[in-house]
Amino acid sequence: MKIDPDKCTSCLSCIPYCPMNCIAEGDDGTAIDEDECVDCGVCRNVEVCPEEAIYMPAEAFEYPRAIRMQFSDPSVQHPNLKAWGRGTEEAKTNDVTGKFGKGDYGMLFEFGRPGTGARFREIEKITTAICAMGIDILEDNPISGLIADKTTGTIRPEFRDEKILSAILEIRIDDSQLAAVVDKVIPLLDDVDTVVSVGLVSRFDDNDELPVIGALRSLGITPRPNAKINVGLGRPIVE
Ligand code: SF4
Ligand code: SF4
Repeated sequence: MKIDPDKCTSCLSCIPYCPMNCIAEGDDGTAIDEDECVDCGVCRNVEVCPEEAIYMPAEAFEYPRAIRMQFSDPSVQHPNLKAWGRGTEEAKTNDVTGKFGKGDYGMLFEFGRPGTGARFREIEKITTAICAMGIDILEDNPISGLIADKTTGTIRPEFRDEKILSAILEIRIDDSQLAAVVDKVIPLLDDVDTVVSVGLVSRFDDNDELPVIGALRSLGITPRPNAKINVGLGRPIVE
């Protein structure tokens, strides 16, 4: 996003609306730090600028910069997946999608939040660890399309420095892989330079129990159980 200096009067009205805090008044007027901006569109879309000085420049739509708006603006579609925003169905909607069956776990790593964002070079620290374990990044996850080598999990170099508001990495694991993921991947999160939330989605078993909770506790993780029922989203596509 950019501000047209010929129109801007430095009224500063737009500054509080930026979730990345990257609009600031400088010696040459109010400007956007282009490297920190994730092209989420909020500052323009709230229509707070009385001069209509905020605009999306042509380069924001060009490769590889366009990846910023694809991950940061929920009204922008990922061109290959035809998904919106962070672009994943997320395991959290499993009651509707049935994406993870009995015996599967959906595992999510959510990188970045408003105020921090995330760069793909930080996400790569986890994609490489996961692929080194022989676990695939789900194909319908937008991060999958940015992987240069599916055996190593490396991100295509042109995307590594791109910054986005947030992204969710999704994988599918089973009981036999849970301990290894907790042991090898979770400690790496300390070196990821943004906030990361980790989620694990499990179906109830035939006894209406969630044995994964006990399994996580035995691995030193204290889970916070959280039920999510997407009433109104549609009919479940599986039983
Ligand atoms: S597009 Fe988003 S991140 Fe960029 S300046 Fe506007 S509000 Fe901030
Ligand atoms: S709201 Fe418009 S005129 Fe005011 S500082 Fe922002 S860009 Fe400039």
